[in-house]
Amino acid sequence: MPEGDDVWRVAARMHAALAGKRLASSDFRVPSLATLDLSGWTVLEVVSRGKHLLHRLAAPDSADSDDGATEARISIHSHLKMEGSWQVLGPSDRWHKPAHTARVVLKAEDGVSAVGFSLGILEVVPTAEEGHVVGHLGPDLLGADWDPELAEANLRSRPDRAIGLALLDQQNLAGIGNIYRSELCFLFRVHPAAPVAAVADLSGLVTTAHRLLEANKARPSRNTTGGYGPRGDSWVYGRAGQPCRRCRTRIEHATLGEPAAALQRERDICYCPSCQPPPG
Ligand SMILES: [Zn+2]
Repeated sequence: MPEGDDVWRVAARMHAALAGKRLASSDFRVPSLATLDLSGWTVLEVVSRGKHLLHRLAAPDSADSDDGATEARISIHSHLKMEGSWQVLGPSDRWHKPAHTARVVLKAEDGVSAVGFSLGILEVVPTAEEGHVVGHLGPDLLGADWDPELAEANLRSRPDRAIGLALLDQQNLAGIGNIYRSELCFLFRVHPAAPVAAVADLSGLVTTAHRLLEANKARPSRNTTGGYGPRGDSWVYGRAGQPCRRCRTRIEHATLGEPAAALQRERDICYCPSCQPPPG
């Protein structure tokens, strides 16, 4: 499952490859969009919103109009979920995933294309109605709408909920995945299963989340520690069984789920039992 900064990079890569270009062809390989043909449409921009991706396009002959009739703008909304990926290819590049996993192929007139594989969500909506598909998200850690006070208030609205679950809830703040939630809980010395109300410095945690994603969005590989050499990129995530970088206690691994959300898959947490004593 990608983190918000992963999705931001995917959007930036596709924006650089496609923005301003007209599509020579499109090939949607999902039944609901099988007849959609976007050849002649112009890619205006590709942006991320939390962990969601939006390709915004203008209809043929409408891209230059100032007030751009809203009905002539559409957005391809996609989400990578667990397995998805987008690949940008030059005219002679090979696909990095099997063809049967391709869900959409967008080919620009210059031969550059973007292929979406195994996307968890793929739909097309009028750009003016993007709110229907991403409007539920809390403030985006990497977006123009970032609002730390609102993010903190959202988290506090359910003070008894485990902080490790509240941070993953994209309606509170958008962009945190499994890695950042483990790292943030370690940095603020709170066990992921502890209630939100038990976090001593929640505003500091929210501010740090923003700082970490901002710092990592343009890096080739994620680092939340600011040091420790090439293999020292995390405090606890992916380090189960290894010594804590603070206190040398063995890092533990567990899963954290929510009884009320039976369909929500339990996911890994990593923590130091000494720096982050379990609640109770
Ligand atoms: Zn420790």
